[in-house]
Amino acid sequence: MRDWVIKFMDGRYGFDKLYFILFIISIILLLFGALILVPIIKLFMLILAFVVVAYALFRVFSRNKYKRSRENLLYLRLSSKVTGFIKQRIKMFRERKTHKFFKCPKCNANLRVPKGKGSIKISCPKCNESFIERT
Ligand SMILES: [Zn+2]
Repeated sequence: MRDWVIKFMDGRYGFDKLYFILFIISIILLLFGALILVPIIKLFMLILAFVVVAYALFRVFSRNKYKRSRENLLYLRLSSKVTGFIKQRIKMFRERKTHKFFKCPKCNANLRVPKGKGSIKISCPKCNESFIERT
């Protein structure tokens, strides 16, 4: 039995982080589908959950490892962007009373300056662009 499994999985892609997130998404779809009372939306949610599971399993058994790892990399890059953005927003909210945040007009970097200092010249540490803002 075990040999058969090992032979079957030989050369196949297997599990990764994208697999787990797809699995979680399908469970969420199933749970929401169970809560929704409108039959057509319920059916749609179930079909969508099935499609997501089918795609996750297709990836696990795929022999095109290169393409699957590229998909996983893309997912990891996107998810780190999203979590980075959320962390940034939380930090901005926490420091809202003591600091003001600006975006550099040249390189778009986030800049943090102390609040209540009047109009000050802000210099971007990344690109040396400077601009005047009220704090
Ligand atoms: Zn800049």
